[in-house]
Amino acid sequence: MIEVAGLKKDYKSGKEVVPVLKGVDLSIEEGEFVCIIGPSGSGKTTLLHLLGGLDTPSSGTIKMKGTELTSKSEKERTILRRKEIGFVFQNYQLLPTLTVYENIVFPLHADGKKASHDEVQMLLDAVDLKGYDHRFPYELSGGQQQRVAIARALIHKPSILLADEPTGNLDRQRRGDILEWLAKFHAEREQTIVMV
Ligand code: ADP
Ligand code: MG
Repeated sequence: MIEVAGLKKDYKSGKEVVPVLKGVDLSIEEGEFVCIIGPSGSGKTTLLHLLGGLDTPSSGTIKMKGTELTSKSEKERTILRRKEIGFVFQNYQLLPTLTVYENIVFPLHADGKKASHDEVQMLLDAVDLKGYDHRFPYELSGGQQQRVAIARALIHKPSILLADEPTGNLDRQRRGDILEWLAKFHAEREQTIVMV
């Protein structure tokens, strides 16, 4: 699914060049559930953003289903990302003025596609939020918002789900729940998942 070779990423801070990724090699098979572990500031988010085509590396290559991501233009990467990748951000990043339903179908609309009502209901059911369609994010708990974010990341049936500390700001109970949802999607849909 993903082949990473010699991946390097430097950030520039004033005149200083800060190396963050110093040659990462990584191979992710279809259907794998991979966890990336490391201390704060070690470059986990940087790596996930590169895998998702949200940023470009300083050097090295990222192949996704055989397609070289790094040789693509920003526009081509956006198209590929919308089709192949689901991203769950650490702090949900739901759109506050949209309902749960509207948040979930947003990626499809952004891509000019129509959402299947049944698919949305199935996802709502899968993350245990049936009947929450018309609620707004502020009417939900943190765990519920994160489940909406997971449903949103899965609506377009991505080849790969990238999740950046999806349980980062949840309590222990909710943390366990979210991990169970992800394990369920991995088992039932053979969803490939990379989680920080
Ligand atoms: P992690 O997710 O493992 O906590 P990050 O990938 O967010 O780590 O950050 C890795 C390092 O890169 C940190 O030292 C951070 O300060 C630095 N960094 C991240 N993003 C930028 C940026 N846009 N510009 C400059 N430095 C950055
Ligand atoms: Mg991070």
